[in-house]
Amino acid sequence: AAVIVAIDGPSGTGKSSTSKAVASQLGLSYLDTGAQYRAITWWMVNNGIDLTDPSAIAAVAAKAEIISGTDPNAPTITVDGVDVAGPIRTTDVTSKVSAVSAVPEVRALITELQRSIAASAEKGIVVEGRDIGTTVLPDADLKIFLTASPEARAARRSGELKGADVKATQEALIKRDTADSSRKTSPLAKADDAVEVDTSELTLQQVIECVVTLIGE
Ligand code: C5P
Repeated sequence: AAVIVAIDGPSGTGKSSTSKAVASQLGLSYLDTGAQYRAITWWMVNNGIDLTDPSAIAAVAAKAEIISGTDPNAPTITVDGVDVAGPIRTTDVTSKVSAVSAVPEVRALITELQRSIAASAEKGIVVEGRDIGTTVLPDADLKIFLTASPEARAARRSGELKGADVKATQEALIKRDTADSSRKTSPLAKADDAVEVDTSELTLQQVIECVVTLIGE
């Protein structure tokens, strides 16, 4: 049967790198759910939607057609046919995504999309996000919750952003995680049956091995 793996946790814990590598090693599909929330946020910005007004966001959410490519070696994301892999990583979109992802209508639409992608993955799928184990795929075969110290997370993100200020990055990360953890609808949370892995002192390779071992058990 297809194996479903949920990997949740705050930003900068190594979720994406780990999830992609594990999926690639095991021949599974891969879904980056954060990219989907970023893509709908990009679409809202591009269409001039007032992001301080949740009802305005809710009213148009179904108009954005998001398509995720699930090959872990070449994941893709498009909105209305436009490749947004680059634009969804800007600091502008990053700073706005929590406001959009907190809107229940947005979450309902994207959750439905995620479930249909997971259901159609033949060999199985590694799905990374914030609420996969708790809400999107509560029956996943394995749930992992990745954590890391604020310092380790900010350092990793700054490394990715090539020289960005560590302090500013850390503050932006904490702000986003606080918003994601405190929203009413399916907040960032560890499922009761998730295995928590603190990645602060681990190399990426060690985290990958840990998850692959857990899948094999
Ligand atoms: O993982 P990434 O940092 O790209 O996620 C971007 C944002 O998407 C998060 O800060 C959060 O607001 C939202 N998100 C979410 N639920 C998920 C995945 C991401 O609300 N399952």
